Amino acid sequence: MKIASFEFNLFGVKTYVVWDEKTHHAAIIDPGMSDENERSALAQFINRHNLKISHLINTHLHIDHTLGNDFVMEEYAVPTEACNADAALGMARSAQAQMFHLRGIAPSPLSIDHNLVDGDKIWLGDEYLEVIYVPGHSPGSIALYCPQSKFVITGDALFNGSIGRTDLPGGNHQQLLDSIRTRLFSLPPETIVYPGHGAPTSIGHETGSNPFFRR
Ligand SMILES: [Zn+2]
Ligand SMILES: [Zn+2]
Repeated sequence: MKIASFEFNLFGVKTYVVWDEKTHHAAIIDPGMSDENERSALAQFINRHNLKISHLINTHLHIDHTLGNDFVMEEYAVPTEACNADAALGMARSAQAQMFHLRGIAPSPLSIDHNLVDGDKIWLGDEYLEVIYVPGHSPGSIALYCPQSKFVITGDALFNGSIGRTDLPGGNHQQLLDSIRTRLFSLPPETIVYPGHGAPTSIGHETGSNPFFRR
């Protein structure tokens, strides 16, 4: 499985494109495009690599991670896949935009077309992304784990040297710590972590040095 990352919008959200080299089947994860330049950067990449977008997945439904959903749904005719526990956040996108003072952006409510639950597998060619439920940053946060290519996309649960904030509606600090410890730190240490913001890291590096898990 191949993976490419983009950094979009003023929150610096990492949008990932994951694809199978043989079939060119691809998934877009957390489309954060907020303007024409960002939308065309993504679309050009997809064209250049001749990708067939077959999945649109959100790790969670905070506004910064969903700004490009409408574009991807229209352009590539794919439904939104996310965890239903974040449905209320999708409905409240315009309230979220106001809360973060996003001027000139009035997003419509975003509904989840396909509910993703723990253990679901999203196939691209011969490999898959496995859904790992990691609530705490938001009630419906998920990570996407590719065991064959040894990487995990962690959304805003786990960052390089940090973890997601839990002071937003639906956040729960202890739940987030438990999610990371039991569901992410149990992955093989060589697993590369692609977070929702900032630089990649690895499970081994975070279990050894993440300041939120010092023994
Ligand atoms: Zn978030
Ligand atoms: Zn975020």
